[in-house]
Amino acid sequence: MARYTGPVCRLCRREGEKLFLKGEKCAKKVCPIVKGTSVSGRPKGGSGGARGRVAVVSAPGQHGNSRKKLSEYGVQLREKQKAKRIYGVLETQFRNYFEIADNMTGVTGENLLKLLESRLDNVVFRLGLARSRAEARQTVLHNLITINGKKVNIPSYRISVGDVIQIKEKASDSAKFKEVIEATGYRIVPEWLSADHENLKGTVVALPNREQIDIPVHETLIIELYSK
Ligand code: SF4
Repeated sequence: MARYTGPVCRLCRREGEKLFLKGEKCAKKVCPIVKGTSVSGRPKGGSGGARGRVAVVSAPGQHGNSRKKLSEYGVQLREKQKAKRIYGVLETQFRNYFEIADNMTGVTGENLLKLLESRLDNVVFRLGLARSRAEARQTVLHNLITINGKKVNIPSYRISVGDVIQIKEKASDSAKFKEVIEATGYRIVPEWLSADHENLKGTVVALPNREQIDIPVHETLIIELYSK
């Protein structure tokens, strides 16, 4: 299946909650989920939603206003879709992550999230070297990242403890990365990473544990879905 290239806010509307796919915009009141507007900017539900709080938004499409109560399967499916969309992973890749997680020791759901969180594109995003995971993916694909001094251009590359992730020297003076660091400065870098924004680099101090992964996903529902 091809990668989704349409408006990303539409994906949040589909799930009915903020998935933080767009970087700075997600933290502002212009987020359609906060404003209660459609992606095109039209107010939804007459009043347009209250400012500063999350509004109820309709799903995209002709029948978006008629949200039905989901079946057990539907709830599990939506949870999987949310996780896939947050990390920008396709169905086959996601299924592969589940298989690996299932064969690891420990709790499968937690293993699954740890594997997703350990992707290089996610780590670049978490370190504040990109405004969104999509931008982090582009940064990796454009050969702008080194790990321990060696070029790595695979977004799904799984990082290890002690890895030093850095923006390539040639790109580090560019205005783009100064803007990125300014834009991501408000974010808290998770404890399992150590960021050095001055030198556009970061170190993996430890692998993440479940409590350190702050995504709005109930992983047990995904495991139930795949275990049918
Ligand atoms: Fe989702 Fe961010 Fe768009 Fe809000 S601004 S709908 S959180 S992608």
